[in-house]
Amino acid sequence: MTTYHCDKCGKEIKQIYSFRFLIYIADADRPVSYYVDNEGNRISGREECFDLCIKCYNKVMGAAYEEFKK
Ligand SMILES: [Zn+2]
Repeated sequence: MTTYHCDKCGKEIKQIYSFRFLIYIADADRPVSYYVDNEGNRISGREECFDLCIKCYNKVMGAAYEEFKK
């Protein structure tokens, strides 16, 4: 049986919660990971995805949602 580990805390997980985003969010120093549109926004066709446990997922998404609400 395959076992999975949380990419943030390393804990073994049975259920994976995906944290998905465009690749340059985590690789901002590498210009090859994105291009820039007419309005100067970074954009990419490639995604990065981390597998999280529910505890880390709640933390990460909670922080993202706080930013979203602003
Ligand atoms: Zn975790």
